Parts: sequence; C-alpha cells; structure tokens
Amino acid sequence: MLDEIVAHAREDEPNECCGLIGGGNGHATSLHRARNEFASPLRYNVHPQDLLRITTEIESAGEELAGIYHSHTRSEAYPSQTDVNLAANWPDPLYLICSLADPADPVVRAFSIRGGSIDEVDLEIEGAR
Ligand SMILES: [Zn+2]
Repeated sequence: MLDEIVAHAREDEPNECCGLIGGGNGHATSLHRARNEFASPLRYNVHPQDLLRITTEIESAGEELAGIYHSHTRSEAYPSQTDVNLAANWPDPLYLICSLADPADPVVRAFSIRGGSIDEVDLEIEGAR
C-alpha cells in the first residue's frame, strides 16, 4: 500500500496527489486513489465527487475511513499549516504524507491531527517481517 502511495505521488508530479484509505481497528485494508480538486503542486483537496464515491465504497465494504494520504513534492513529509487547517474538519482519520523531496528516497509518514496538534503515528508494515 505504501508502494502504491509512492507510485501515485510520482505519477501526479508536479502536483500533489491524494487518496483515501479504508480499514478498521488500526488496520489499513483498502487504498483508493482520488483526484486532487485543486490539481496544484502546493495544496490538495480530495475531489468532492471522489470523496462521496469512495466513502460509499468504504462503508459498503464494512470498513471505516482510516486515513487520508497526500503528497509533498518538494517539502518534507510533515503536515503544513494548510494540512492542519484542513484536518480540523475531520479529526478521526490518520493523515499520511508522502514526500518526494528526495526523489531517490521517498518518505511516507503518518500523523494524527486533532485540535491543531500534530502527533506522529508509527506505521507497521504487515507481512513484511
Ligand atoms: Zn500537505
């Protein structure tokens, strides 16, 4: 799934990519690419049509919206003030950020963003031990 996020980030360069992750109980079980409504290198918003379609898919599969991912093409994998503002409306999912700042070494990190405070969350890759 992380490989898929990195692949999506690379395909959408120079713009930021975004997508949704379904799951539950701390497990990610499905990945859904979405369009960046802004098609911008500096910011993202999950396209409203994709948001509706994908959240419906996730719920009908008995999953919850576990995460939202997007890419940073030039900056580190850490939430920007814009990201924190966006998360204020939606505090429950984890926020995954894929940085392509070093193209040879993409980085994906995950954060919980609630009430304006940012906490990094460790990702455990299942089946990779
Ligand atoms: Zn961002």
